[in-house]
Amino acid sequence: GGEPELERVAGLVRDVPDYPSPGILFRDITPVLADAEAFTAVTTELAALVGEADLVAGVEARGFLLGAAVAVVAGTGVVTVRKAGKLPRVAASRTYELEYGTATLELPADTVARGARVFLVDDVLATGGTAAAAAELLREVGATVVGFGALLELTALNGRARLGDVPVHALLTA
Ligand code: AMP
Repeated sequence: GGEPELERVAGLVRDVPDYPSPGILFRDITPVLADAEAFTAVTTELAALVGEADLVAGVEARGFLLGAAVAVVAGTGVVTVRKAGKLPRVAASRTYELEYGTATLELPADTVARGARVFLVDDVLATGGTAAAAAELLREVGATVVGFGALLELTALNGRARLGDVPVHALLTA
């Protein structure tokens, strides 16, 4: 565990230029998830940040994989923060601005109790728009977002500023 293991994890992230559109440097973390030791290391590190949270929320889609693993290790349940139109029953919905156009995130009904303390997980923190919208969605149903954890933070975009006073943790930075 610790620093040397995270260095190895960093080496598994693949940078893909011009995906999904020209000028974007996409950070592909799927090789991290496919590596048994790396997946265990990142799951363990993120789970240590869950603290007193009762629930982990993972953002579609790579956040589902990390979030579910983190929840099992931390001993909490997990909830899916989904892109619009996938859920049979929606507790809350939030539309936010992207670089081009808008996106909508939804929370399933009967998953997040009022007063729940939720730790939010995603793979990459970029502009922070997605994480901020997910946090607002959780607050809309009466939850408290006690922290946000990502595998990788793209620090130049200062996405953490969008999360206000929610503590932001990233295992790797680029
Ligand atoms: P943002 O809302 O800009 O913070 O974008 C975060 C969401 O988009 C996360 O769910 C990421 O998976 C994905 N994302 C944004 N930018 C990148 C990138 N450069 N590489 C990989 N994933 C990204």
